[in-house]
Amino acid sequence: MIEREGRLLLDGELVPGRIALDGERIATVTPDPAVANERIIAPGLIDLQVNGGYGIDFGEEPERISEVATWLPETGCTAFLPTIVSSLGDRYDRVFETIPVALTGAGARVLGLHLEGPFLAPGKKGAHSLKAIEAADDALFAKLISEPAVRLVTLAPERPGSLERIVELVERGVLVSLGHTEATYEEFETAVDTGARMATHLFNAMSQLGSRTPGAVGAALVDDRVTVGLIPDGIHCHPAALRLTVRAKGADGIALVSDMMAAAGMAPGTYSLNDIPVFVDETSARLKDGRLAGSILTMDAAVRNMAAWGDVSLASALTMASTIPARLLGLADLGTLVPGALADLVVLDGDGQVAETWIAGTCVYARG
Ligand code: ZN
Repeated sequence: MIEREGRLLLDGELVPGRIALDGERIATVTPDPAVANERIIAPGLIDLQVNGGYGIDFGEEPERISEVATWLPETGCTAFLPTIVSSLGDRYDRVFETIPVALTGAGARVLGLHLEGPFLAPGKKGAHSLKAIEAADDALFAKLISEPAVRLVTLAPERPGSLERIVELVERGVLVSLGHTEATYEEFETAVDTGARMATHLFNAMSQLGSRTPGAVGAALVDDRVTVGLIPDGIHCHPAALRLTVRAKGADGIALVSDMMAAAGMAPGTYSLNDIPVFVDETSARLKDGRLAGSILTMDAAVRNMAAWGDVSLASALTMASTIPARLLGLADLGTLVPGALADLVVLDGDGQVAETWIAGTCVYARG
């Protein structure tokens, strides 16, 4: 039996105590005020939006998802959804052909696919291909929903046919997130009534909050049924936008995501997102015209940034990066430190730097 002691993330609070692992699962969790070790032990971080990393773009090289999975534990990430941005039909075929291998690979767990698009608003396309967004039709939708690895779909609710698509996705157990959208408040709310439960990268690529037109941002902030994805990289959202989100949603309504792309973990330079060139400096990834194209954020940095800028404790930020995404995906044995849950853990120094990462009871990363 393996044992670790420190401050355990239990119900959103850091509680001194010990945790014991037995095989791939957590055996016991024992609060003990006498434990003086300041290290933090939290459930492994779960990233719902990963376009690539370490020089690899998942749309272009889906067969290399497993390679990124072996690197992600150094960022505290123990599970993720490889994310495919709007693509033309044959690219999805290649992704679906290769995903079974990734689902059983080593390293961070591949929980399934996040299809961000292609049923998006052309006017909020961000770095997505307009051609792919405009070509998306019922036949493509039928192909996409027939793939069992699809766990999360981002769509724009105002597109004709979206409500029917939400019904079909929810029936198949797929989480529906609303994003890259020009939806009115009313259109957004109708989609939530129909079963959508998330907003993709709140504030970015969606209709903004106005006094008489609350838009997608206003609807997502006030509707407690909706969990919002946030990219706390200091580029996608102003710190005040993070604090506003915390006040509106609480830690339970926020899922931190990295939205990382191929350049994450690499030096600045020119990379690509699904064949579109992306220029990367020390802090951001942008198209030639300056539009953001994913991020170079990692989940451990997302947690530290959220604690620093969002006016929340490290415990709350860790909850947003582990417990909340697991709950959104309906994964009862991830994202929580309870006996019987899978032993996916991240051990952090008091300042939030990753010291160790454990997956299924095995230490897969230890800082040298
Ligand atoms: Zn996006």
